[in-house]
Amino acid sequence: MTRTVDPVHTLAVRGEEEIAEAVRRARAEGRGIRVLGAGGSKSEVTQVPHTALRIREPDRILRVEGREATVPTGITTGRLQELLRREGLALATVGEWRNATIAGSIATATHGGSAHHGIVSTSVRRVRLVDGTGAIRDVDRHHPDFTHLAVNLGAFGVLTEVTLACDPHFFLRMETDVIPFQEYLEDPVAQESRVEFHASVWMPDAARVIRFGGERTDDPGRRSRRHTRFGKWLAMARFVARRLGFHRTVSSWLFRKTSVGDAGQMLSPLIVPPRVVHFRHRANEVRRRRAGELAIPASAAAEALPRFEAFFRRHLTTLNNPIGLRMNAADDFAVSPCEGRATLWLDIFYDADPVFERELAALADDFEGRCHWGKALALPPGTLRRRYTRWDAFAEARRRYDPDEVFANAFTHRLGLTSRGAPAPAP
Ligand SMILES: Cc1cc2nc3c(=O)[nH]c(=O)nc-3n(C[C@H](O)[C@H](O)[C@H](O)COP(=O)(O)OP(=O)(O)OC[C@H]3O[C@@H](n4cnc5c(N)ncnc54)[C@H](O)[C@@H]3O)c2cc1C
Repeated sequence: MTRTVDPVHTLAVRGEEEIAEAVRRARAEGRGIRVLGAGGSKSEVTQVPHTALRIREPDRILRVEGREATVPTGITTGRLQELLRREGLALATVGEWRNATIAGSIATATHGGSAHHGIVSTSVRRVRLVDGTGAIRDVDRHHPDFTHLAVNLGAFGVLTEVTLACDPHFFLRMETDVIPFQEYLEDPVAQESRVEFHASVWMPDAARVIRFGGERTDDPGRRSRRHTRFGKWLAMARFVARRLGFHRTVSSWLFRKTSVGDAGQMLSPLIVPPRVVHFRHRANEVRRRRAGELAIPASAAAEALPRFEAFFRRHLTTLNNPIGLRMNAADDFAVSPCEGRATLWLDIFYDADPVFERELAALADDFEGRCHWGKALALPPGTLRRRYTRWDAFAEARRRYDPDEVFANAFTHRLGLTSRGAPAPAP
């Protein structure tokens, strides 16, 4: 059966029965569906083959049992933290963007910065979904398919509910400072694990690392806002360091700050409305700017970083932002970039350039790199597939949940997860 491509149209649905009906109809008519998250991903994972499903559900917590909260999946992680706080709870594994939905975060293996915690999906205890046949399924973490659904690339069906393991609500005290890159390099893993929450920004031209380290505190005292990692201070320091050559500007003198706040605000400081994100995505496409995030084994960090440093120094003009560094604990999800290994993430922002991209892919390959599924993929599909020992099992599970490929799109085709080639053009 060839799938024809009609203009994308959006279908607003409410409640599981309407979702199931939409999926059954799409299946019968041979049309593809993708659920709309907040649109934060920069990869083709969000590509809509035909119908974009917009789920209209009020933001709320459906149930709290002990420290487990069940929520609808379209809720943003920022709003979720606000609602959890009223229940005396908090989620410790969120990404930095407050507007990401919980389903979008789970689909793409979104993560925060903590060597002590895993990606967002490690907090998931159960998902409920409408699969590609329109059937409703509950999959908890003891189910053999949980490993496939915990990071699912949006390709198994429509997630409608998720149960998350939370912590008692906490406040965070964050210290920001700057150290020489050489000091960071002495033991990158120790650097990223020295406190419970940690994220860094590495400026290869200034050979310095800005550290954001957060610990829980029982005594929040006076609240103060934290710097975002890629905010105006960084832009200013980068301008002075790069354009004027004053690398010492990137110093604790400029960046040192102690900030204290609620877990939700401190862990996800980025509030950027989705429409602004979409505009930036489009502008970056026009300017041919890319943003990818590499995942390399933390055990290889000390060996890999000098090689990356030499590479970045050769291509300073291709980089359009400093490098983000974060770590996460290992997990056991079939296609999670942290599967089976504690991971060091490198957030890389660059201008499209075939030489840079070829060398980056080769370097990533030397260190068994994997890629964030929601950002530009620095490695070709064949290489990525080989990085996951359970890739075939993931593809087989996907077929069971969605035998007629209702949730296939350009991304699943490119990764070889779905059998049809690119959808045929409309006659
Ligand atoms: C400003 C900004 C900051 C970011 N910071 C971080 C960060 O700190 N860490 C990090 O790891 N990433 C980060 N990202 C990337 C971002 O977290 C991921 O791309 C995430 O997927 C965004 O969630 P979303 O709601 O926008 O999902 P989308 O990008 O809209 O969708 C992702 C996928 O999820 C699917 N999906 C959505 N809802 C459902 C559903 N109900 N059922 C099934 N599938 C569904 C979509 O169809 C799509 O395939 C950032 C992105 C931005 C724009």
